[in-house]
Amino acid sequence: MQSNEEKPIVSLVTNLICVNCQAEYAEGQADVCPQCGIDEGILDVCFDLAAAGKTLTRAALAERPPSIWRYREVLPIEGAPPAGLEQIGWTPLIEAPRLAADLGIGRLRLKDDGRSASGSFKDRASAIGVARALDEGAGEVACASTGNAASSLAHCAAAVGLRANIFVSEMVPEGKLAQLLAYGARVFKVRGTYAQAYELCTQACRAFGWYNRNAAINPYLVEGKKTGGLEVAEQCADDPPDWVACSVGDGCSIAGVHKGLRTMKEVGVIDWTARMLGVQAAGVAPIAQAYRTGKLDRERVGETYADSINVPVPRNWRKAVNAVRESDGTFVEATDEQIAAAVRVTGRLAGIFAEPAAATAVAGIAVARAQGILNDESNVVAMITGNGLKDIAGALRAVGQPHEIPPDLGSVRTIVEQAT
Ligand SMILES: *Cc1c(COP(=O)(O)O)cnc(C)c1O
Repeated sequence: MQSNEEKPIVSLVTNLICVNCQAEYAEGQADVCPQCGIDEGILDVCFDLAAAGKTLTRAALAERPPSIWRYREVLPIEGAPPAGLEQIGWTPLIEAPRLAADLGIGRLRLKDDGRSASGSFKDRASAIGVARALDEGAGEVACASTGNAASSLAHCAAAVGLRANIFVSEMVPEGKLAQLLAYGARVFKVRGTYAQAYELCTQACRAFGWYNRNAAINPYLVEGKKTGGLEVAEQCADDPPDWVACSVGDGCSIAGVHKGLRTMKEVGVIDWTARMLGVQAAGVAPIAQAYRTGKLDRERVGETYADSINVPVPRNWRKAVNAVRESDGTFVEATDEQIAAAVRVTGRLAGIFAEPAAATAVAGIAVARAQGILNDESNVVAMITGNGLKDIAGALRAVGQPHEIPPDLGSVRTIVEQAT
């Protein structure tokens, strides 16, 4: 390590800005904009990028560890990365020529966060949440979620020795419950709706001084998701894609990825931008609709089997819409059948087992190709946000059944010959 790499790490956060009214707040002053309220007043964390650019250079990055902590100038933490979380991030970018050909585009690379520690992109946000909880001296962390946010928080908390308190509704799928309990989280199964579990978590954080990882009221988490974009920028630095496809539920992930790309351009590590392709499940697509109409419809109901992006009333919709607009991108919607097909082709043609919400990014590429948004020369990166083992029931719906046979070679031969 060079000597200038050993200086204490000081956060370069300058202030926070309301994404709705652009009012500015100092750090610690507010969780959401008090004028715009919890439904609209999501805050965005700003950094001194001129200062960051002095040390966040290609030459410096070449010397740094392969994890999210390599980007410390643009992370909202003080001090060294927490022991136990050194490995988060720097997931591989995998060339997928057969899948690109199948989709009819020029080139496809898959950013596989399914192989992150707890199996999803959410580890990036949870690692920052846990680092901040430690900075603030909180002994316990909490969140309300039935999905990847909870399992990644439980993982990160266990890895550093904090207790995680997770509030789930009665509908929690068994596999996800098992993952939470295996990481030793204290799991509260709330007899009620998800909204009630969420409210109870907020109250408990206030009552017991727990650090609240709920993304809607914690603007720092999206800075963790930003590392997905920082990595794509660096991994594609001299070989940029035209588009980055990302599945969208609440909207933080795509906003974070776009912010990461933009940040790397602003500090001078790259000199290009990519267009964001936001993909929602057709059954639950409030952000894709808000992109078209300019306004969020809070009443519409629908269904999708891609459970990690089943967010009927997203809080970060404006951040997501802004990211797509700023990048000259667009939104598309994929049906559950198209998502299931994407689970199959991503497994078979790229060797990556993606959960339905992750394969949705690939499904969106197929939709965008059919609509003429992409063509046979398009060069795309798709964010694979979660591992297929997260949702076995969803996977089995997509991939079919095994051949059931008696234990004799003749039966094997019959099936082999049928297939050719
Ligand atoms: C959370 C999640 C998303 C979407 O992220 P949002 O910030 O909710 O838009 C996509 N895929 C997977 C696997 C997720 O867990």
